[in-house]
Amino acid sequence: MNPAPFTYHKAANLDEAIGLLGTHGADAKVLAGGHSLLPIMKLRLVEPDHLIDLSAVEELRGIAVADGVLRIGALTTHHQLERDLLVRDHALVLAEAAGQVGDRQVRNRGTVGGALAHADAAADYPAAILALDATVVARGPAGERRIAAAEFFVDLLTTALEPDELLTAVEVPVLPGRAGGSYQKLANQASGYALVGVAVVVVLDVAGRCAEARVGVTGAVASGRRAGATEALLRGAALDETAIASAAARVGDGLDLLDDLHASAEYRRRVLVGLTRRALTSATERANA
Ligand SMILES: Cc1cc2nc3c(=O)[nH]c(=O)nc-3n(C[C@H](O)[C@H](O)[C@H](O)COP(=O)(O)OP(=O)(O)OC[C@H]3O[C@@H](n4cnc5c(N)ncnc54)[C@H](O)[C@@H]3O)c2cc1C
Repeated sequence: MNPAPFTYHKAANLDEAIGLLGTHGADAKVLAGGHSLLPIMKLRLVEPDHLIDLSAVEELRGIAVADGVLRIGALTTHHQLERDLLVRDHALVLAEAAGQVGDRQVRNRGTVGGALAHADAAADYPAAILALDATVVARGPAGERRIAAAEFFVDLLTTALEPDELLTAVEVPVLPGRAGGSYQKLANQASGYALVGVAVVVVLDVAGRCAEARVGVTGAVASGRRAGATEALLRGAALDETAIASAAARVGDGLDLLDDLHASAEYRRRVLVGLTRRALTSATERANA
C-alpha cells in the first residue's frame, strides 16, 4: 500500500526543523532513517500531513566526549554506534545493543534518535540507555530540556517527547575506571527484535564490591524499565556467582511482564533471569579486567 498524501519538507538546519515542527505540530512527523516510520505510513497506521526530513541537519550528527559526558547526535546510525571507538571505550553496552539491531541494512539506515523516539517495546536501545543512566536531550519551540532515561520511556510507543519536540542527542555519563557493562538479548527468530533484552552496568568500589548496579530491561515490558529489586540486592554485595544468581532471580519483581502471541509472561520471566545472570557475570568480569 502507498502512504496517504503528505507535504515533504527538507529541513536545512536545526532551527528550520524546529520551526517546521512548531508550525505543523501534531500534523507532522520527522523522518530520520525511515525504518520504522515508512512501514507504518505505508500501512496507513500513521498519516502525517507533513513529513520533515532531518537528513541535512548536521547539528544532529557527531559523537564527542567533553566534561565527563559522551554526547551522541540523534542521527547517529546503529552501525556508527556499534563501531565508534569513543562509544566502545565509554559505553560498550550501547555499542553492543547497536550491533544487535536488525540486520546490516537496518543498522546502516536506522538512527539512535529514531529508535528512541519510536519506543518500540521490543527495541534494543531502551535497556542500554537505562543501564547507562543516560539523558535524552530534546528541543522544541520552547527551548531545550533534558529528560532522564528513567522518565523518557512512558508506555508502548510513547515517550516523554512533546509532538513539537525533536530528540537532538543522547548524553551518557562516562563510567569510572572499575566499571563494566553487558547487553544480552534473546531475539525473536522471525523479526530479530528483542523478545527479551537486558543491559547491565556495574561499578565496583576500591574493595571490589558493587558500589552501583543498574539493570535495564526491554522486550519483556511494554516500555523500557529498570529492575529495581535486582539493583537493590546487588548494591554493596561481593559480585560472586551466588550473589549474582540470587539478585538475577528477582529481576522480574515489580515489572509488568508482557504476555502475548510471541511469548508468555512466565517464559519471558525465565529468560529474563537467565540473561540477567549472564549480563551481570560478563559486566563484573569486564569491571575486574
Ligand atoms: C527489518 C527491521 C528489523 C529491525 N530490527 C530491530 C531490532 O532488532 N531492534 C531494534 O531496536 N530495532 C529494530 N528495527 C527498528 C530500527 O532500529 C529503526 O531504525 C528504528 O526503530 C527507527 O529509527 P529510524 O532512524 O529509522 O527512525 P524513523 O523510522 O525515521 O522514525 C521513527 C519515529 O521516530 C520519530 N523520530 C525520528 N527521529 C526523531 C528525532 N530526532 N526526534 C524526534 N522524533 C524522531 C519519527 O517521526 C517516527 O515517529 C528494525 C527495523 C526493521 C525495518
